[in-house]
Amino acid sequence: MNKVIIETSARHLHLSKEHLEVLFGAGYELTVKKELSQPGQYASTDKVEVVGEKGSLKMSILGPTRKETQVELSLTDARSIGVKAPVRESGDIAGTGSCKLVGPKGEVVLTEGVIAAKRHIHITPEDAAAFGVSDKQIVSVQVNCGNGRDMTFGDVVVRVSASYATRMHIDTDEANAASIAGEVEGVVIL
Ligand SMILES: [Zn+2]
Repeated sequence: MNKVIIETSARHLHLSKEHLEVLFGAGYELTVKKELSQPGQYASTDKVEVVGEKGSLKMSILGPTRKETQVELSLTDARSIGVKAPVRESGDIAGTGSCKLVGPKGEVVLTEGVIAAKRHIHITPEDAAAFGVSDKQIVSVQVNCGNGRDMTFGDVVVRVSASYATRMHIDTDEANAASIAGEVEGVVIL
């Protein structure tokens, strides 16, 4: 069986260098809190307030900085603060939701970049070959945690890169739907 470790991503954002400096001041560098499973990626101790039409949420910034700012939240979060968050792959932000970002030193009006991340599997070329999957392939993943909410996720996009560690990423709504707590494995179904 092709098993993959499933990790739950809490709401977070990625910032461009330009936006980081508007929000935190010129020359500001993020403070690393914890290395993430994907090589080179980390959670920082720094937070930004993401403001929608109905409310706001403080969100952690993941580093390093990226070419474009992107806010990733669950659909429950999106509804609670009043932002539009289409389901998209990371980086595919044209026409996505808008919000305001408030940092300690300044504010940014983000015209697009708010998404609910499409569930996905990061996978190394070696594991992709062993699983028989290719980049951009859509698969399903069966989750049986024994918590009374066994389910199969469809529409899971596979992303292959030598710079990845093999992991599936879902958001908190999806984890709750399957009663996932802590680290669990799923079975990839082609
Ligand atoms: Zn991911």
